[in-house]
Amino acid sequence: MDKDCLFCKIAAGKMDTEFEFENDTLVVFKDINPHAPVHWLIVPKKHIRSINDLTAADRDIVAEITDVARQMARQAGVNESGYKLLFNVERGGGQVIFHLHMHLLGGWDKRK
Ligand code: AMP
Ligand code: ZN
Repeated sequence: MDKDCLFCKIAAGKMDTEFEFENDTLVVFKDINPHAPVHWLIVPKKHIRSINDLTAADRDIVAEITDVARQMARQAGVNESGYKLLFNVERGGGQVIFHLHMHLLGGWDKRK
């Protein structure tokens, strides 16, 4: 836990953020400034700055993020219409919160 990190505080339940899902490894919540009809963030509880900072010891966390992303797409009702999964990496890649998170974006077109 990084005491100055917003996503550490949210993941620790200190910010009144409503979770769509939580387990021992991660939390899922809606993006406060959505860029799509469905825009959820999948956030590990462990403070990792970005994809650049992952180590082999974090492989289970990354696997868990993609597993939960698949489940969340179904929960949000976008699994069949389709969705994007995105990591922004460092400032040039659009990252503004320096605590690893995956964006789940979808819901533009419900046609199958
Ligand atoms: P990134 O640009 O990949 O670092 O994405 C950070 C995302 O966090 C942005 O899409 C923000 O809208 C979102 N965000 C920032 N603060 C909050 C918050 N308190 N609750 C939910 N989402 C947030
Ligand atoms: Zn953090």
